[in-house]
Amino acid sequence: MSYKQRYPDEFYLTVDWFGPDDCDKECMSSKIVTTRAEHECVFSGYKHKIPTGEKAWRESGKVEGRFGSCYSCLKCLDQCARRLGLRARGAT
Ligand SMILES: [Zn+2]
Repeated sequence: MSYKQRYPDEFYLTVDWFGPDDCDKECMSSKIVTTRAEHECVFSGYKHKIPTGEKAWRESGKVEGRFGSCYSCLKCLDQCARRLGLRARGAT
């Protein structure tokens, strides 16, 4: 059964989930995708996998000179948002 996200897709794209970090990033972009293969959830620290067909937040770009992308599941982002007390615009 797929996870039911708590916020609209756009919300996930407006948050700087990892905060400022000192790694060298370029041309980063993020979007909400439906996974076509299993990916490890970066946000959980690679502790679990995001199943195929699940929605995930994908950040891609050049990190420390290498082009790549990473995936985080919406469930982890929701938990983080809740911890931070974030609210989606328009939501109550
Ligand atoms: Zn996760």
